[in-house]
Amino acid sequence: MKCPVCGEDCIKDAHEIIEVLPTIFSRCPDCHFRILDKNTPLPNRFYQTPCTCGKRFIDEVYAHLYVIFLEEGIFTGDEPLKAVGTPLIHPGFFMKLPPFLPRDSLVLLSAHLTKEVAERIIREVPEIKGVVKSDDFVPGISDPDLDGVPNTYTLLAGCDIRANVFETKKGRLVLYKEQSTMHIEFPRRFNPKIDAVEKRIESFQPEYFVDACSGVGTLGLAAARMGVPHVIMNDIWFAAAFWTGYNLQVNREFFKIDDVTMYFDYAELEKEPIVKEPRLVAEATGAQEMKVFQGDYNLLHTVLPDSRVLAVIDLYEKSDLTATTKILGRWREHVSGEVFIP
Ligand SMILES: [Zn+2]
Ligand SMILES: [Zn+2]
Repeated sequence: MKCPVCGEDCIKDAHEIIEVLPTIFSRCPDCHFRILDKNTPLPNRFYQTPCTCGKRFIDEVYAHLYVIFLEEGIFTGDEPLKAVGTPLIHPGFFMKLPPFLPRDSLVLLSAHLTKEVAERIIREVPEIKGVVKSDDFVPGISDPDLDGVPNTYTLLAGCDIRANVFETKKGRLVLYKEQSTMHIEFPRRFNPKIDAVEKRIESFQPEYFVDACSGVGTLGLAAARMGVPHVIMNDIWFAAAFWTGYNLQVNREFFKIDDVTMYFDYAELEKEPIVKEPRLVAEATGAQEMKVFQGDYNLLHTVLPDSRVLAVIDLYEKSDLTATTKILGRWREHVSGEVFIP
C-alpha cells in the first residue's frame, strides 16, 4: 500500500509483516556481536559496518550514529551512548533479545538533531528509516477534551511510518503509525488494554462495539478480531482517524469484510486536523461492518445506532478520577449499554 508520508510502498498487508517476525532481527553465523554500555560514552570513534547478510547489531548502529554526532559537533564525547536518542524498531513487537537490524528497520527519535544531520544519517546509516526531532511533550492527542490543535514532533528526514505488532486471543494485529504525530507505545508480551476489551466482549457479547478514542485503531480492531458484528472507531485527531482507517485495510484479511473504502486521503484530512462533528473517514462492509469516524467522542452518539453498545474510551491520562467519572457519566447520558476505560 502506498505510504502517505514518503509515497513509496512502505506499508505491507498484515501477513507480510507477521511472516517475517521470526527471523527479521536474527543474526547470521557471520554477524558480529559487541555489546556496548549505554550509560557511558562510546569508547573510541569506531563502529562496525553491516555484515554481508545486510544486518548489524543495534549497538553498532548506535556507535555509528554516535560518531556522526561527534563529527557534526552535536556531541562533545562526554555524552553516554543512550543520549543518541530513542530507537523505535520497525516492526516493533515483543522481543527477548536485542535486534540485528536490517535496512530501514529503525526510526530514531532524538532531541538534538538538525535537518542537515538527519539527512546525512539517512544517507549513511542504512538501518535508519526515519529521523524525528522529539521534544518534551507527548505528540498527538493526550487530552480527549482538548481545544485546539495538538503538538507534534517533526520528521527531519526519511519516513517515520512504522508498525507495531500486538498479540490478541485470536492472533496478531499489525498497527501502523506515523511516529511524529502519535504517542510512543512499546508492544509487551501482555497488553492489559486488549485483554480488558476481550474480557468485556466475552461477557457482554455485543452486537456493536465502539472505540471512542481509537488512536491507531488497536482496541477497535482487537474487537473486530473477536468477531463483533459491528465495530465503530473514532478519533478527533486526523492522523489517528487516518491510521485507524489504514490499519483496517492492513488487517482486512482477519475480518469478515468484502471491501474497505477510505473517503478521504491524508492531505484532505490534514486540512482539518481537529473536527468536532463526526465525519465518516472509512468504512468496511460484509458479514462484519466497520466504520471509522473523525470527531469529538462527546458527539459520537449522533451517529451511533439506537441499540445497546459496548464502548471503550481509551484515555491517555486516566489518573484523574473526577475527570474520568465525568467522561463516563456524559457518555451514559446518550448511549445505552456498557462503557469502560481500559
Ligand atoms: Zn513511508
Ligand atoms: Zn550477518
